[in-house]
Amino acid sequence: MAFSETFHCNVCGKPKSEEACDWWLAWEDQVSPLPKVEQPLLKVTHWNDFLAHDAAVKHLCGARCAQTLLDRWMHEVGE
Ligand SMILES: [Zn+2]
Repeated sequence: MAFSETFHCNVCGKPKSEEACDWWLAWEDQVSPLPKVEQPLLKVTHWNDFLAHDAAVKHLCGARCAQTLLDRWMHEVGE
């Protein structure tokens, strides 16, 4: 059985269509420059159907929403 699943942009809520090809994925990770020092890191990559199923991944409908997510994330991290 083929299952169809609709992803929505985590920033603007737009549903992803089959033809949409400029979508992006983002997720938070950690980097440790020194032992016991952890810095949050935001990773962004081009759309990948396998990665899109990861619960921690944010779905982005384009560069504009990716920038909005980055702005929000920087604001949260900077606080
Ligand atoms: Zn969007």
